[in-house]
Amino acid sequence: MNDLKEFIKIASDEEGIDLIGFAKARNFTEFEKFYNKKIENDYLPDVGSIRDVKKRLNVFDVMPQAKTIIAVGVSYNKKIDKHKNEAIKGIISHHVFKTDYHDIMHEKMHNLIEKIKEKAGNNYKFQCYCDSGVLDDRIAAYLAGIGFFGKNNFIINEKYGSYIFLGHILTDINIRPDTSAQNLCGDCRECIDICPSGALMDSYCLNSKKCISNLTQKKTLSDDEQQAMDRHIYGCNICQQVCRFNIDAPVRSSQSFSADIEDIYVDCDDIINMGKDRFKEKYEKTAMYWRGYDIIKRNAEAVKQNILRNNYGGNYEG
Ligand code: SF4
Ligand code: SF4
Repeated sequence: MNDLKEFIKIASDEEGIDLIGFAKARNFTEFEKFYNKKIENDYLPDVGSIRDVKKRLNVFDVMPQAKTIIAVGVSYNKKIDKHKNEAIKGIISHHVFKTDYHDIMHEKMHNLIEKIKEKAGNNYKFQCYCDSGVLDDRIAAYLAGIGFFGKNNFIINEKYGSYIFLGHILTDINIRPDTSAQNLCGDCRECIDICPSGALMDSYCLNSKKCISNLTQKKTLSDDEQQAMDRHIYGCNICQQVCRFNIDAPVRSSQSFSADIEDIYVDCDDIINMGKDRFKEKYEKTAMYWRGYDIIKRNAEAVKQNILRNNYGGNYEG
């Protein structure tokens, strides 16, 4: 089905999918050790983590007749200028704007599936996921050649870097697989050195319990964790910002994902005082809304205290 593979690649490009790769369907057995080590060391996040390793890795439990994993990636890279009052602003990661990427990714994958059905016929089965299934999107992307696992724990594509949303489609069509990408981190450890919470390790392991991105999603936070958040109200991109593969990556983000500087750098008091209705009005379509006003408000209060404590900019009046 090589002509079908070429057809799918062209159709995916028409859908605005920047990266596509194919892997033979199989269980992700070689990652079992890696997951078990994370569990043993208590490195998994409290939010949304599936502790049943077999479930995370068993493709045939999800689709017994699967033959191929089609992995897709869409760039959300965006060059963002520094805000003039950056030091006294809370930060929301740009990946949450403007539209929830889960919706966009699912729409793109569903459209692609429809095109494949038109070409291959209606006898084949498809299941698609973006952060929504039990299987690890990153492992699917790695096996299908979308990119390599960086020391910052993101999948890095040599051209597009790591600011890419990932999704995967399981299907019972046999499609010639691609080869996995070679790791290009080498001796670099920029991301490990800059991570403010010491969450990254040379062993390519991430301690999610320490990671600020995870802390901003947690239901309860200790005082130390609130301080560790520094100025991050939701998400953290520091280990991606320093990565050389992102610095010169092309900006191919669609309007749907395009964040403005004012979206990213916010006044903590605006969030603290906006109330649930205004929060819904402003953030309902974003990928941050699911976390709810109470937690985002709690984060904004913690960040405000951090700004005051650290006297960033020396003129915070909030
Ligand atoms: S997201 Fe932030 S806290 Fe988490 S590993 Fe990267 S730099 Fe460290
Ligand atoms: S900053 Fe360096 S070590 Fe970290 S992911 Fe990028 S290339 Fe790899």
